[in-house]
Amino acid sequence: MAEIWNLEALCRCCHVDGIFKNLNEYIVDNSVENYLNLLIETLGVNIKPPPANASFSICDACISKLRGASAFKKMVLDCETKFEEYCKNELLSNVKMEPEYLAKREVLGTIANTTRELSERSERAGVAAGEAPGPY
Ligand SMILES: [Zn+2]
Repeated sequence: MAEIWNLEALCRCCHVDGIFKNLNEYIVDNSVENYLNLLIETLGVNIKPPPANASFSICDACISKLRGASAFKKMVLDCETKFEEYCKNELLSNVKMEPEYLAKREVLGTIANTTRELSERSERAGVAAGEAPGPY
């Protein structure tokens, strides 16, 4: 059975029947909320005004979801901005620490050279000792 829609009274977002708030403008506590703009900014969804005398409204449940989605998007973007700033500051503080890091690397380099010299010496000694028995 095909659904029969009352095109003049339905939510354009979920198609529930009823008379709802205008998508284009609605006044809440003396400030204007524009659900169409919120839909476009948050979800990239543009609901076109109807060609005839049909609904251009949004139900309370969809408004609540839209507000939630908008708040979620804002939270993620804010967190990303903070994260990027934190990473940038971390990077800057690592650059400041570089002389100390280089000094440590020099010490490690000296230790590595000493270790290599010692092992080379013992290799030479080992080769000399290996030659000693000879063909007898
Ligand atoms: Zn709805």
